[in-house]
Amino acid sequence: MKSKKSKTEQRALKLILNAGKEGLLQSELWKLLDISTREASRIAIKFEEKGKVRRDKVLNNGRWTYMIYSMKEYVTLKSIEGCPCTICPDVDRCFTGGTKDPRTCLDLTAWIDPRTESLPFSKILVQEEAVIL
Ligand code: SF4
Repeated sequence: MKSKKSKTEQRALKLILNAGKEGLLQSELWKLLDISTREASRIAIKFEEKGKVRRDKVLNNGRWTYMIYSMKEYVTLKSIEGCPCTICPDVDRCFTGGTKDPRTCLDLTAWIDPRTESLPFSKILVQEEAVIL
């Protein structure tokens, strides 16, 4: 069973994540969570120290506060739009070390970095997890 503190932190993280690129004022966070300013500050600092958020000091209605931005974003289907794997007939046979291998697939490489499309395969150095031109 989760403690009240961790539930509050989860709600805080979700609110910050949902705020997206706009960010969320720290002074709004405590109101939305119905917690004290001190508790909101503690949570925000903790998240910042863990690299979960970035805080920028801002002047809001004549008072200093922080704008909090999530360091994560929701993954959307747009991020895989056009990926050749989504319509590839070989997807079931494609794996690292297989006859079809994502590390050496030119279609996938060209989708990840369209600059490689015009290069001969010999010019593309495919390493474990990265494609280097
Ligand atoms: S990496 Fe290439 S071969 Fe493998 S599923 Fe994707 S498009 Fe098909």
